Amino acid sequence: MRCAIVSDIHSNLAAFRAVLAHAEQQGGYETIWCLGDVVGYGPRPNECVDLLRGHPHVCVAGNHDWAAVGKLDLGHFNDDAAIAALWTRKVLRQDIRRYLLSLPIVRVEEEFTLAHGSPREPIWEYLTSATRAAASLESFQTRFCLVGHTHIPIVFRCQTVGGCCVTDPLEERTSLIAEPSRLIINPGSVGQPRDEDPRASYAILDTVRPELQHYRVEYDIASVQEEIYDADLPPFLAERLSHGW
Ligand code: ZN
Repeated sequence: MRCAIVSDIHSNLAAFRAVLAHAEQQGGYETIWCLGDVVGYGPRPNECVDLLRGHPHVCVAGNHDWAAVGKLDLGHFNDDAAIAALWTRKVLRQDIRRYLLSLPIVRVEEEFTLAHGSPREPIWEYLTSATRAAASLESFQTRFCLVGHTHIPIVFRCQTVGGCCVTDPLEERTSLIAEPSRLIINPGSVGQPRDEDPRASYAILDTVRPELQHYRVEYDIASVQEEIYDADLPPFLAERLSHGW
């Protein structure tokens, strides 16, 4: 099976569309695995959920999805994130709200565990270090784990015994067949990359080979920035898209 792995779309419809079009050009995909934060920050929350729901998919909840439906205290958010979360609450359609409320925090698909932050604390923990990755190994049973949340493409290679992990950038191609280790993989963010590369980031997983291809995709950033200004969302949320931060 071929899966498009997307995370942190953040209501950025142009980026999400560009990613799915790109995935079609790479030979297509049968399903989408989404690692949370479909909404929040950006200007098109309803449309992004509609686009996701228009495809076979599975999705886990992210902290911004919970904030948008009032499941999370906004005191944990910085000002811009909180303003955007309140704006999102106001514009969300009822059916979209129900959909976001229904999302699980962890899914297991074949040899992969899907969580937004980490398998240990799916909503909030940022897997930013090998130490944290190692500490989360006991929290999932599969060989591979897919996470988002940091908006930075990365792979943690972890020994099964001893729990020691090393951190690597996510290469264009990661073969999973030759891997003696357990892997925790972050495909980066579709709608708000934070690794100083403004292009949308995602991956295609082929579970038969098995291997993971990581891609960066250009999209019309200026059009999304216009939508953010028009919606009266914080201007910084538009500006950061140009810088990939
Ligand atoms: Zn996010």
